[in-house]
Amino acid sequence: MENLISFLKDYIRELPEGKKVSAAAIGFPSTINRARDTVMQSPNLAGLDNVPLKAMLEEELGIKVLIEKDVNLLYCHDRKVLNLSRKGVHIGIYFGTGIGNAIFIDGKPLTGKDGAAGEIGHIPLVPGGKLCGCGNRGCAECYAGGKYLVELINTKYSGEPISELFVRHAESPEIKEFVENAARVVATEINLLNPETIVLGGGVLNMKGFPTKLLEEKIRNCSRKPYPEESLEIYFSKDEVENGVRGAVEYARERS
Ligand SMILES: [Zn+2]
Repeated sequence: MENLISFLKDYIRELPEGKKVSAAAIGFPSTINRARDTVMQSPNLAGLDNVPLKAMLEEELGIKVLIEKDVNLLYCHDRKVLNLSRKGVHIGIYFGTGIGNAIFIDGKPLTGKDGAAGEIGHIPLVPGGKLCGCGNRGCAECYAGGKYLVELINTKYSGEPISELFVRHAESPEIKEFVENAARVVATEINLLNPETIVLGGGVLNMKGFPTKLLEEKIRNCSRKPYPEESLEIYFSKDEVENGVRGAVEYARERS
């Protein structure tokens, strides 16, 4: 918390003359409460859980502060770049270490009762399967997230660079199964929500040689016929390091 506060204070202090910060939007790889003022649970970030972050930052910085799930900010960037409509249900699914999921309804992120909606990475896929970071077994992200690829390198392709995994082993049964599992995750949400548009992205999908066509084909195979399959609008987003920050700007601009 102290690091975050001092980083933001330095940024504000060092702005050129005449420039002013009016709001800050910050994305966390965490569960955020429904009121969007407290980070509830961050498996990979220490020291933030259950801290009333919004109020603390607003008091320290004297500006409006918005906190949100990082993938929702990523999605705000993608929907702007792709010029997607706000009406209806739109989804974004991002395959990184885990699987991030943004669900937007009429332009706003779906939060759910506890702020924990859109945890598609934790849909149960394999009975009694691998132990997930969430404590359950067999969650989808253990089989369709980057974690699975790291495990594959460590067990089957020891010593090989992970960046070459799809280039060298696209035809292996393990990679085919990985793509099949990723497609099932996406199709699950498609069949549940019949979304207007689907944005797919994240580090895994942007790895060299990732079989994008095969993924789309398998998503179509698993989507219910004739609808929603016939009207699917699938977009692939490019994974640039600034996307989340650009999305945060959009998010803050709309709310301040
Ligand atoms: Zn899980």
